[in-house]
Amino acid sequence: MGFYITTAIDYVNSRPHLGTAYEKVTADVIARYKRLRGVDTHFVMGNDEHSQNVYRRARELGEDPLAYCDRMEQVFRDVWGRLSVSFDDFIRTTEPRHRVAVQQLLQRSYDRGDVYEGHYEGWYCVSCEAFKQEKDLIGGKCPIHLTTPDWIRERNHFFRLSKYQPALLDHYAAHPEFIEPDVRRNEILRLVESGLEDISVSRAGQAWGIPVPFDPDSVVYVWFDALVNYIAAVGYGSDDALFARWWPAQVHIVGKDITRFHCVIWPAMLMSAGLPLPERVFGHGWVHFRGQKMSKSLGTVVDPLEAADRLGADPLRLYLTKEIPYGGDGDFTWDRYEERYNVDLANNLGNLVSRIVTMADKYRQLRLEPSSLGPGPLAAVASDVRSAYVTAMDAFALHEGAAAAFRLVDATNVFIAESEPWVLARDPGASDRLAQVLYDAGEALRIAAVLLLPVMPTAAAEILRRAGESVPAEDIRFDDADWKSSMPRTLVTGPALWPRLQDQPAERKADIPTTMESHVSNTPEWKPNAPAPESPAPAATTPSPAAGNDPSGARVSIDEFMKVEMRVAKVLTAERVPKSKKLLKLWVDLGAEQRTIVAGLAEAYEPETLVGRTVVVVANLAPAKLMGIESNGMVLAASTESGKPILLSVDGDAQPGMRVR
Ligand SMILES: [Zn+2]
Repeated sequence: MGFYITTAIDYVNSRPHLGTAYEKVTADVIARYKRLRGVDTHFVMGNDEHSQNVYRRARELGEDPLAYCDRMEQVFRDVWGRLSVSFDDFIRTTEPRHRVAVQQLLQRSYDRGDVYEGHYEGWYCVSCEAFKQEKDLIGGKCPIHLTTPDWIRERNHFFRLSKYQPALLDHYAAHPEFIEPDVRRNEILRLVESGLEDISVSRAGQAWGIPVPFDPDSVVYVWFDALVNYIAAVGYGSDDALFARWWPAQVHIVGKDITRFHCVIWPAMLMSAGLPLPERVFGHGWVHFRGQKMSKSLGTVVDPLEAADRLGADPLRLYLTKEIPYGGDGDFTWDRYEERYNVDLANNLGNLVSRIVTMADKYRQLRLEPSSLGPGPLAAVASDVRSAYVTAMDAFALHEGAAAAFRLVDATNVFIAESEPWVLARDPGASDRLAQVLYDAGEALRIAAVLLLPVMPTAAAEILRRAGESVPAEDIRFDDADWKSSMPRTLVTGPALWPRLQDQPAERKADIPTTMESHVSNTPEWKPNAPAPESPAPAATTPSPAAGNDPSGARVSIDEFMKVEMRVAKVLTAERVPKSKKLLKLWVDLGAEQRTIVAGLAEAYEPETLVGRTVVVVANLAPAKLMGIESNGMVLAASTESGKPILLSVDGDAQPGMRVR
C-alpha cells in the first residue's frame, strides 16, 4: 500500500514566506518518515497559477503571465531545494495534464446535472479569490485584506454543492479521520450542518484560466481549478495506470484557513465525478511572527531562506517541527530560534556527537566494540523512545516524534555523565565497563540519528556517518533503529556540527539566554561547582561558559528547575568590595526581607548606577563568604565572551519579592 501526500499549491505572486515553508517542511517530514518506514511514498507539491493576482502581478511587471509563472517556478523550487523538501512531483496548474483533468472533471459533473447556469451578483475579493457574503464583510471591507471587494454581476455556472450536504455529513460520520485535527472537524461539521449554498465555478469574460469545456467564453473559477491538481498530478484524465496507482490520496496537508475548501467543496466535486475521496485532510495551524500573523503589510513576514542561511536548513526544520504542536498555531522569533539552536543542537545533540567521538578517539582509537557485560540501561530507553516515536509520527504528532528522539539524546548525555568514562579510563580493571559504556553511547546516538532523519535529513546523515553507520542514509530504514547489541563500529571525527552562538546582535541583547554559571564564572573567588575531573572537552567546539567543564547539556525537569527560587529584587545600596576588582556588595530589597549579596559586577557597572535598579536574584542559594563578606543570593546576569556581565532588564511592573519562573 502506497502513501500519497500533497500540500496546498501556492499562488506565485510573491515569494514563499515562513508560513508557506512550514507547510512544505512538515509535509516533507511526514513523507520522509513514511519512506523511512519502507512505505512507497508519493509526495506532490506545486504552484497555483490561474489566479487573477498572478495575472495582475505579471502585468504590473510588464511580463507575459506564463513567462512570469515560469520564472516564479524556479524561485519556489530553489526555496524548497534549500530547505531539503523532497517532493516527488511538482505540478503547475498551467500544465496540459492539469487542464485535461480540470475539464474532464467539470464535464463529468455537468453531464451528471450538477452544474447549471445562473447569474451571480455579489461581492468578490480578488486578493482572496473568493466570493464574499455581506455578513462576512466588516465595514464593507474584506476582513482579511481590508479592501473593498468588487461588486460582480455576471453569468456564471454553479455547482450543486447543496445537494451534497447529506452525503458529506454521512462521510464525516463514517470516517471521523477524514478531517484532522478534531478542532477543524468540529468547525466543518458546524458549517455543513448549517446548510450549504451552491457555488459559482466559473468567471465570465476572463482570459487567464482554463476554459469551461461547455462554455468557452468562461474560465473555471480558480478554486475549482486548483483543487483538481491533486488528481491531475497523478494522471486523472491523462494516465490511467498512474491514477489507479496513487488515488485516493492518504492525506492532503493544508492550512487551517482553507480546510473548508478541502473538506466540503473538494469531496463534493469528487462525489459528483464518481471518484473516491482522499483518506484525510490535515489542517495545520499558522506560524506567527512575534505573536502576529505573517503579513506583508504588517511587516511580519519572515523569509525562510534568511532563517536557513542564518543557522542552517536543519535547525530551521527542527524548530518548525519540534516547537510547534502540529495542528495548532505556533510562534517564531529570531531570539527563540537562536535559543532553541543553542539548547537543542549546540549544547545537546551537537555536543553529544563531539563527546562520543572524542572519547572513542581518546580511549579506543575510534573503534567501539561491546564487552561481555551486555547493554546497559540505554537499550531499554531506546526501545521506549522508538515506540513513542512511531505512535506520535503515525498520528502526525510530529512535535512529539521529534521530542521523543531528543529524549534519547538527553538520556545518553545523562548516561555519560553518570558513567564517567574519563574515570573508568584511569582504572585498568574497568576496561570492559568502559568499552560497554562507549559502545552503548554510540549506539544510542546512532539510533537517535535514524529517528531524526525525517526532521533533519542532512545533519542526521552526517551524525550516522560519524557514528560509524555503514548503510548510506538514503538506504536507512526504520529497522536500523533497532538496538544492535554486537555490531562493532569505527567512528569518524569531524568539526563541531553546531557551534554555539556567542555574540548576539546588540538590538537583541536583552534576550541573551541567561545562565547562572555565567555569573559564577565572573567571580573567580567563588567556585561552588568543582569541574568534573578529566571530562573530555568536546572536539572543536568553543568551550562555552554555560557548558562549563561537563558539557552534558542534559536538561532538567520542571521540578528540578523549580527548586531554584528566583525573585525580583531592588538594589537599595551598592559599594565596591575593598581589594576586589570584580565584586560589589549590594543591599537588596526582596519584598519581605532585605539582605546582602556580593556580585561580580564591578568591572561593568559603577555602584551608584545600580542603586534603585530592579534585578533578578537567586534567593535560595546557600550563603557563601566572598572576601570575608557573607553573600546571601546571586544576581542573574548574562555574560559576554570576555566575561563581562550584562544585567537583565526587568519591567517596572515587577515588584520586589515576586517569584521569577
Ligand atoms: Zn480578501
